[in-house]
Amino acid sequence: MTTTVDQQSARLARLRDAAHRIRRHAIDMGEVQGQGYIGQALGVADILAVVYAEQLRLRPHDPHWDGRDRFLLSIGHYAIALYAALAEAGVIDPDELQTYGSDGSRLPMSGMASYTPGMEISGGSLGHGLAVATGMALGLRHRGNPARVYNLLSDGELDEGSTWEAALGCAHHGLDNVTAIVDVNALQADGPTAGVLRTEPVADKWRAFGWHAIRVDGNDLAALTAAFDELRAHRGSPGVLICDTRIGCGVPLLETREKAHFMRVEAHEWQIARDQLEEGYRK
Ligand SMILES: [Mg+2]
Repeated sequence: MTTTVDQQSARLARLRDAAHRIRRHAIDMGEVQGQGYIGQALGVADILAVVYAEQLRLRPHDPHWDGRDRFLLSIGHYAIALYAALAEAGVIDPDELQTYGSDGSRLPMSGMASYTPGMEISGGSLGHGLAVATGMALGLRHRGNPARVYNLLSDGELDEGSTWEAALGCAHHGLDNVTAIVDVNALQADGPTAGVLRTEPVADKWRAFGWHAIRVDGNDLAALTAAFDELRAHRGSPGVLICDTRIGCGVPLLETREKAHFMRVEAHEWQIARDQLEEGYRK
């Protein structure tokens, strides 16, 4: 099937709308707590829009359906981004986002599988997601289940030996039903990634470990769709999509924050953030 120019521009317009709603949901949730990992959520919104709007096979009202593609968030602190995407996908009700991080909520500040429909693993103890993805993918293949496994990990998680151990195992077993997505925002809790532990050249390392690696601008929807299409068609080895993202993307006020990892946003700034997001969307 060939894709016409019109079909591709309609696809990108649909994804742009989805990414915009994910960002708006994330800002609304951020305001509930007044602080948090809002910069990362805005940074990965485009990736999650492509993943949840068109890549994953899901039944939104049956989150345990055995045929579903699994999306593993190993970076538990990015839960705010995933909740926004789950609301966009119809897995959770957008009204529930207002409970984010509150007592009794199904949406705790760090992702926990036992709390939230669509949250496959409890992340946050970093560097474990890819090993779980590898085990899940082996099990699915063993059972003849064609579902795919995705793992979103951070560039900080590339500091973890367990990530590379899993990368070796996944490639050894030729698990082409696995797609790893690395959010390279060049920052981690203790500072810029380049200063904490140098991990570049990231794509070369994955290739050396036997992975089919593609690197794109993670805030470029056209580049993301082309890369996901290529990875879906690839056979014989696992695939990794390395995404260079901008923290706070879409909200200039937050893109330029100095303390960007865990962001404090003043009460009056949330409306400014919403206005800037809206302004960028209308351009
Ligand atoms: Mg990072």
